[in-house]
Amino acid sequence: MAMHDVTVRGAGIFGLSIAWACARRGARVQVIDPHGPGAGASGGLVGALAPHVPENWNDKKAFQFDSLIMAQAFWDQVRETGGVSSGYGRTGRLQPIADDKALALAQARAETAVPLWQGRAQWRVRPAADVGPWAPVSPTGMVIHDTLSARMSPRRACAALVAALAVRGIEIVPEAPDRGQVVHATGVAGLQDLSAALDKNIGNGVKGQAALLRFEAGPEVPQIFADAVHIIPHDDGTLAIGSTSERDYDDPHGTDAGLDEVIERARIAVPLLHGAEVIERWAGLRPRARSRAPMLGAHPLHPGQFIANGGFKIGFGMAPKVAEVMADLMLEGRDTIPEGFRPEASL
Ligand SMILES: Cc1cc2nc3c(=O)[nH]c(=O)nc-3n(C[C@H](O)[C@H](O)[C@H](O)COP(=O)(O)OP(=O)(O)OC[C@H]3O[C@@H](n4cnc5c(N)ncnc54)[C@H](O)[C@@H]3O)c2cc1C
Repeated sequence: MAMHDVTVRGAGIFGLSIAWACARRGARVQVIDPHGPGAGASGGLVGALAPHVPENWNDKKAFQFDSLIMAQAFWDQVRETGGVSSGYGRTGRLQPIADDKALALAQARAETAVPLWQGRAQWRVRPAADVGPWAPVSPTGMVIHDTLSARMSPRRACAALVAALAVRGIEIVPEAPDRGQVVHATGVAGLQDLSAALDKNIGNGVKGQAALLRFEAGPEVPQIFADAVHIIPHDDGTLAIGSTSERDYDDPHGTDAGLDEVIERARIAVPLLHGAEVIERWAGLRPRARSRAPMLGAHPLHPGQFIANGGFKIGFGMAPKVAEVMADLMLEGRDTIPEGFRPEASL
């Protein structure tokens, strides 16, 4: 393969992952971000890599499934190259089951998960009592336990990629002229630029607030999703709780009573968290394309250039596969992007 030059604009999880995938294939890569790596949504705290429910399968769910399966090898290689851990661990997830109707649905999904997850992960319904003291409060006494969900630390994931790129001689620079293939992975700013240039809403930022607690749950403890709250034990003696989802806000980076309420819901779901100290409160804007799906492919404004945006609530989960399909497209002209992920879906 001929040596390609690649310019990545934006050093969030999408830009850094694409830079890594291209560098791994031998491209000469530069990464440009005036604010430095992890300055946007990717500098957060939560890091749930959680699947869609295993039913009504579609391109988006299949893409995310592939990405979650790829994640272990992706993050292992990043750590082996740069020496920095992303905090990745496929530790699974527990979800309480509210009532008989939800129990029947969960049991049906255990069956559909078998073919859809191809035997590579399980969706099981089991007694909460079998899980031990970490089990969430569950009205039916039963929980869903899936073995596909993983966790990672968003900030450490960015740092791990920066370190791996540095080993390949790639630094993140504030500005530089374009060179070779150009991809814009500029998050909310990119969506706002598109909306302004096309004079319609192509996408925007959905605010999320999250908290980090000091809490030693143990290295292999599953994450919990309860009452719409993600509770994520990390491998460094911290535990993240997220998030609010706000379309209207004055201060994109401020935290308020909305976060207190999310923390309280987590403590009700997992009483062990009562008394755990909150060590950080954080807010950021998720890049949401109008289609709600990732926006990958030819850039709508810059002919011959590319866009990777719209990670919305699952950008970290999608990043390994987003990086691969963007590298396929930019370096080999091979387009494997699902129809619903094309920029046109939001135009
Ligand atoms: C509270 C919260 C909780 C979340 N929880 C999860 C979760 O548990 N799991 C999950 O998978 N996802 C989660 N997400 C979503 C995830 O964080 C995003 O999908 C992801 O970070 C988006 O990555 P990105 O690289 O597209 O954008 P960003 O991280 O926003 O990066 C964009 C980058 O572009 C740079 N930039 C802007 N303009 C320019 C320019 N002109 N030139 C060059 N660079 C530019 C910015 O400085 C920034 O660094 C959460 C988000 C929030 C806010």
